[in-house]
Amino acid sequence: MDSSSEFTHELDRDLAALEAKAADYAARHHRLATIAWPAGVRIAVNFTADFDAMLLRRVLNEPPQQLAKGEFGGRVGIWRLIELFDSHAIKATIFTPGRICELYPQAVKAAAKSGHEIADHMWEHQVPKDPVLERDHLRKAKDAIETLTGRRPVGTRSWHTRELLIEEGFVYNSHDSADALPHYVSGADGSGALINLPFHYAIDDAMFFSFAWLNSDNQAQRMMDPDHVEEIWWAAFQQQYAQGGYLNICMHPFVSGRALRIAMLDRLITRMKALPGVWFPTCEQVARHVVAAHPAS
Ligand SMILES: [Zn+2]
Repeated sequence: MDSSSEFTHELDRDLAALEAKAADYAARHHRLATIAWPAGVRIAVNFTADFDAMLLRRVLNEPPQQLAKGEFGGRVGIWRLIELFDSHAIKATIFTPGRICELYPQAVKAAAKSGHEIADHMWEHQVPKDPVLERDHLRKAKDAIETLTGRRPVGTRSWHTRELLIEEGFVYNSHDSADALPHYVSGADGSGALINLPFHYAIDDAMFFSFAWLNSDNQAQRMMDPDHVEEIWWAAFQQQYAQGGYLNICMHPFVSGRALRIAMLDRLITRMKALPGVWFPTCEQVARHVVAAHPAS
């Protein structure tokens, strides 16, 4: 075989592998072309906060100065976000690691008391590969949340396996960005479908405002003007509003809890609320609505 036919042969093999991958992906992802929202609703907007505080930085073994930035989220940022959402009568979803329930129990309780959904964000912001340990982590996180809030979480933002989440009574994950609308993810045979409420990194505060990891490259530094981010997110909202769609705004208390960003969110919410048909439910409300209106086939 000469080298050019070997190359063609290799391309054919690659193409076959890609086609198999695409078929597998299509079998596991079930798009909803449109969502039938409740009467009078044109768009559902989920405000979601990943209450990582210093935990993720600890997992990444970052130095003390960086841990302190995370702590701001638990001591100050989360309280500012709760106050902001309460002032607009918006119910947000706080994805909370189990360990954070131990570190900031008052904040978790206060958020739940205000009617915000407390959902799972893994025990220690990571999912163990060992299945026995994975289940143990998920149960510990569930128990920690239930102990503080009196409610078992039904949602997660995590890498937990879908089958385990369903077994443990979860109704949705909000982790993947495979679509703009809520959709189902299942096994390749269509079994074990679970709703995913997609977010996107373009609507994630950390992509715009995460600043100064020590030893990180210049291009990793992000310190954007909040006014500019407000316009980007407003344009994303308008695009989905026109389509009768969905927007999941992903925040972190240590990032969005900074004063100028709280002020920006306040302006953004005020603009959204001025339009008719804007629904601000929790993720659980969206997931339960979609399951009822568009059952998994
Ligand atoms: Zn996180």
